[in-house]
Amino acid sequence: MSDQHTERHQSFETLAIHAGQPADAQTGAVVTPIYQVSTYKQDGVGGLRGGYEYSRSANPTRTALEENLAALEDGRRGLAFASGLAAEDCLLRTVLVPGDHVVIPNDAYGGTFRLFSKVVERWGVQWSVADTSDPAAVRAELRPNTKLIWVETPSNPLLGITDIAALADIARGAGVRLVVDNTFASPYLQQPLALGADVVVHSTTKYMGGHSDVVGGALVTGDAELGEQLAYHQNAMGAVAGPFDAWLVMRGIKTLAVRMDRHSANATRIAEMLVNHPKVTQVFYPGLAGHAGHEVAAKQMRAFGGMISFRVAAGEEAAVEVCNRAKLFTLGESLGGVESLIEHPGRMTHASVAGSALEVPSDLVRLSVGIESVDDLLADLTEALG
Ligand SMILES: *Cc1c(COP(=O)(O)O)cnc(C)c1O
Repeated sequence: MSDQHTERHQSFETLAIHAGQPADAQTGAVVTPIYQVSTYKQDGVGGLRGGYEYSRSANPTRTALEENLAALEDGRRGLAFASGLAAEDCLLRTVLVPGDHVVIPNDAYGGTFRLFSKVVERWGVQWSVADTSDPAAVRAELRPNTKLIWVETPSNPLLGITDIAALADIARGAGVRLVVDNTFASPYLQQPLALGADVVVHSTTKYMGGHSDVVGGALVTGDAELGEQLAYHQNAMGAVAGPFDAWLVMRGIKTLAVRMDRHSANATRIAEMLVNHPKVTQVFYPGLAGHAGHEVAAKQMRAFGGMISFRVAAGEEAAVEVCNRAKLFTLGESLGGVESLIEHPGRMTHASVAGSALEVPSDLVRLSVGIESVDDLLADLTEALG
């Protein structure tokens, strides 16, 4: 492991490029190689070099990413998975047993809701929904068997904001763990562990990877013992990030800070245009002073990120038409890449929450604002709105 103590004093931008990635000892290669390998020669039985034995258990490329993730979230242990949902699954099966209860948000990634409602529930885990932007509502959902409070902030797709420090107080008081899905913010904009959360979850598919070319997930915790338990289950269950995928995420992270600055600046300009557009009834962007969570977001985030949702005045079909007419904004699911995306959550990313407490408005359009020229993006959106 590289010298974590020295790294703590370096700034985020520096850690993003260097943490966990010293130049290769043998060749001096400046970039961590892709160790596309499954097994390792032992120097006599049990004589492992650097602890490497089999790549499900550990692989040097993945180790570099995992150390980098731990540094960026200011945690003790980072773990990289094959997808965000694989990371979530590992966390849930590590800390929950049948009979436990979890509080989940009323606005969350559809796949997270599906994991709780269709998979984890079958194993005897109970869940209930709360508006996590209201700490009192979360407190009211706590039961004697509650083990986790799950939070997504900003949330998907309504950009709701939860006060992480306030929920950390409630969780600590109740002996419950607080989990924060930090996918929308990335550690550059927000560091949940520093605000009192126990575990951070990422879909590294999104801003961390940043180029729409990899699917991956991560867990980071500041609790070394929990980190050990998670690592045990990561190996026991096996949904690890492959070496090339880990390398792509690491490569993406090197530019995370500059990308997030540009995503945030572009999104701010677009949100301001939408607020004043006659065909738009409501804009969800935490950077807007009128957003319900603006003050909390300003307190816990460095900037407001690249995600915006808005409601189209003429209703569902008109919202779908805006998505169909956009050209530079590519019609597609996912988010967080350098290229701008547009989608209709009700029929696309959030179709799985239809009819549940997490159902989203049918006239909603979601944007993942990329880092293209903001003038080109504004022109495309204005045209699509007609
Ligand atoms: C995409 C996403 C996930 C799931 O991640 P995958 O990499 O698609 O498995 C979880 N949470 C949020 C907020 C997401 O956007």
